Amino acid sequence: LDRKDEFGQLADSLNQMADRLRADNLEMKRMYQKQSQFFADITHEIRNPLHTISGALEMLEMHDLDEDQKIKYIKTASRQTHRINRLFKDLVTLQRYDSDDHFIEKKPFDLQLLIHTLQELLEPDAEDKGLSLICETEPIRVLGDPNKIEQVLENLISNAIKFTNNGHIRLNTKEKTDSVIIEIEDTGIGISKEHLERLFDRFYRTDKARSRDKGGTGLGLAVVKSILNAHGTEIHVESEPGKGSKFWFKLDKV
Ligand code: ADP
Repeated sequence: LDRKDEFGQLADSLNQMADRLRADNLEMKRMYQKQSQFFADITHEIRNPLHTISGALEMLEMHDLDEDQKIKYIKTASRQTHRINRLFKDLVTLQRYDSDDHFIEKKPFDLQLLIHTLQELLEPDAEDKGLSLICETEPIRVLGDPNKIEQVLENLISNAIKFTNNGHIRLNTKEKTDSVIIEIEDTGIGISKEHLERLFDRFYRTDKARSRDKGGTGLGLAVVKSILNAHGTEIHVESEPGKGSKFWFKLDKV
């Protein structure tokens, strides 16, 4: 009987080991697929603007163009170069967060001041589209890396401007006992439910053509998520198609 028990136990542990190996194997396959998809996405994102740049250069080289046409092609090439630059910048940022090299330096800073600086920077973009950028905030000192929080807010406000055709973008802060909630709300095109879950994934867009057309890299929200996670906080979203979206996150007060 002892022998039988021993064999039984041995068989059980072998089975458990096999289960673990199968799970590990599956996980590795999943990671590999994710990586391959990521590389495929990057290649695609670079190939598109490069194609446009070489087309523009070819036009400049081969054809006898007037000044206006020349300027048009130079501007196209320059816009696409900026896009590739932004893509690399975002990729480097994400790679750093992935490798735990967070380079986050938390310190107390004035959130209202940062918001006002951003308002000055982004208001012209909103005005160009006939949108108002309303910022409602009070003097609040929070704990975080001001440069990184600026990047988060810039990405969220730029998106709000990009995906809103009329109405306004409103940024407000809500003070709680130990924290402050920062909300960025727009009256834009909104996002349907099926997209919300994957919205913060790299290169995920609800409408690829529209995003590229607006110069997007598809990495803005992934960067937002990584920065906030490194701060120990999370990004949230609520949205209704045709009505608008609201993104919000919490920071600790000093
Ligand atoms: P990008 O803006 O470069 O496409 P992001 O990662 O910043 O990439 O955003 C991913 C996608 O999420 C966008 O392409 C768009 O479909 C959707 N999105 C983001 N912000 C908004 C918003 N405020 N309103 C509607 N859709 C949005």
